[in-house]
Amino acid sequence: MSVESKKVKALVMLSGGLDSSLALAITKKLGIETVALSLKTPFCNFDCGGGACAGDVSDVARRLNVEWIADELGDEYIDMVRRPKHGYGSGMNPCIDCRIMMFKKAKEIMERIGADFLVTGEVLGQRPMSQNLKALQAIEKESGLEGKILRPLSARLLQATKAEENGMVDRERLYSISGRSRKEQIALASEFGLRRYPNPAGGCILTEKEFARKLRDLFAHMAKPDRRQIELLKIGRHFRLSADLKLIVGRNLIENNTILTLADESEHLMAVENYVGPICLLLGNYKEEELKLAASICVRYSDAPKSDDISVKLFDKKGNLIRLVQAKSAQQSTLDHYRV
Ligand code: SF4
Repeated sequence: MSVESKKVKALVMLSGGLDSSLALAITKKLGIETVALSLKTPFCNFDCGGGACAGDVSDVARRLNVEWIADELGDEYIDMVRRPKHGYGSGMNPCIDCRIMMFKKAKEIMERIGADFLVTGEVLGQRPMSQNLKALQAIEKESGLEGKILRPLSARLLQATKAEENGMVDRERLYSISGRSRKEQIALASEFGLRRYPNPAGGCILTEKEFARKLRDLFAHMAKPDRRQIELLKIGRHFRLSADLKLIVGRNLIENNTILTLADESEHLMAVENYVGPICLLLGNYKEEELKLAASICVRYSDAPKSDDISVKLFDKKGNLIRLVQAKSAQQSTLDHYRV
């Protein structure tokens, strides 16, 4: 019996980026029954998978003509990001712990669908934190998938997996790509007829400096942030007005609407009266002087004259006016002082 004719099944981590799409295409070409898995986290629409996060991974799965499973990691992922065993990368990205958690989830799904091994688009040496040899080994061991993760793009530089050893996969048909250059992958993409793929991203939002600052601030002031708190980190300018109070200022119409949608019924919002300006959300308990401070920041980002006393509306999610607050525009030094 040829290698191709054996009934072998693989679960492929698909982010929709070039590398994971290639890993999938290679696996299919080996004649292996292939199912794709995309995992969402509160910080990332679908995992970076060693390549780029994709805008619409379902579309990629459709184009690659593969059965697609979408699943997600939720509160347990937020807990992990708070205290990752293996630390952070350049921002708040706990790439090693992230991969371990994703692979543990993938292992459950492999068992459910009867897959023999897991396939990823990881490339040795492409990402400093999670794709060096030591990290790849730690990730495998801690996810309980030792010898069961096939990385077709770098396989020939790595120790043979169980699937290669027992003949399920022909090692000779795998690749020995390493490093950060994408040249070989781009050449391979044209060989496989993969045309539309996103540019490589530097990782998920956790790698971004501004987001990392906001997240550190959240973790420092809240024991157990929920997903709504994480969603709010993705929008607006954030100001830490006290240990108990944060102000979020919308930067455009879309963010203003998102703030209104995400606000809780018990929370209060602000907007200047009679001028175009942002929607601001007060998160936490406030005293009178903090309310004035928040109002002055709200005025600062509005079209209201900067030297006049301006009326700022305090209202609830349903739009009910609670009261008006008078404030002059905050100075730049005030913004700098409180900005997260
Ligand atoms: S960049 Fe790191 S933390 Fe973010 S999804 Fe990728 S592996 Fe996970």
